[in-house]
Amino acid sequence: MDRENTSVLENIALNADHRMLIVYAPKLAALAHPGQFAELATDGATLLRKPISIAMADKEKGTLTFVFRMIGSGTEHLGNLKPTSALDIIGPLGNGFDLNCRKALLIGGGVGTPPLLYLASQLKKESKEVGIVLGARDKADLLLLDEFAKLGIEPICATDNGSAGVKGTVVTALEEKAVLDSGTKLFACGPWPMLKALAVFSEKMSLELEVLLEAYMGCGMGICVGCTVPTTEGMKRVCKEGPAFNAKEILWNKIR
Ligand SMILES: Cc1cc2nc3c(=O)[nH]c(=O)nc-3n(C[C@H](O)[C@H](O)[C@H](O)COP(=O)(O)OP(=O)(O)OC[C@H]3O[C@@H](n4cnc5c(N)ncnc54)[C@H](O)[C@@H]3O)c2cc1C
Repeated sequence: MDRENTSVLENIALNADHRMLIVYAPKLAALAHPGQFAELATDGATLLRKPISIAMADKEKGTLTFVFRMIGSGTEHLGNLKPTSALDIIGPLGNGFDLNCRKALLIGGGVGTPPLLYLASQLKKESKEVGIVLGARDKADLLLLDEFAKLGIEPICATDNGSAGVKGTVVTALEEKAVLDSGTKLFACGPWPMLKALAVFSEKMSLELEVLLEAYMGCGMGICVGCTVPTTEGMKRVCKEGPAFNAKEILWNKIR
């Protein structure tokens, strides 16, 4: 973990309410591992920093990319930053994904998709076979399709309203379209109900599943204990022991 006063290079509108922020942060980019996140300062727009997943880290260019939905005052502040604006960042934080697998299938729901981009790029660098399934409410909410295409991955898509891909959830798409074998490891990030459904699916199919959890977070550094989740080994902090967890560890029936 480190802290860097970074400078915004690009702020790209992906659709009506999603932004991609690329910042120059060579110290943090050098440390970043897929699945980790950073705490972004909001210059007083909110009391607390905002936790945002690392969507890409380019260690050669020294850049970090964040993709987020403008949902409240903190993310709106970040979404309005201009190129050359300063941005104070603490990161990388938490334990990221365990990339050890032969074949990977990544599953993203809505704004849970961004951390899977960095994961996909690292797995590709390690010459692993990578597939991706993306789910969203509507076609317009499917994120980063071009970026996955640049990595040579064509996502299988599912939308709630059928405006793109399979009509239904990512589980529908997995059942109807995905090629799964016993050596496939599933990696997922998205809303809790999606992760819960995937935990059931992976159990049924006897597949390993690693999930990236999102929880309301105070400090993001393991001190406030505001983001704990029930696990087979007691309560664990999403920000410190996670956000990546083996799905078997989480007591899904005790959550929401
Ligand atoms: C480890 C981690 C990684 C994250 N990565 C990303 C990311 O890559 N992209 C992204 O868009 N968001 C991500 N988030 C969520 C993001 O931090 C919140 O959306 C953000 O804090 C909202 O701040 P705000 O001030 O804009 O909105 P607020 O005013 O704080 O909240 C606006 C609305 O969003 C709801 N909300 C706020 N935070 C959360 C949350 N964590 N979960 C569910 N609902 C929430 C509130 O109930 C409220 O209705 C991540 C969260 C965590 C914990």
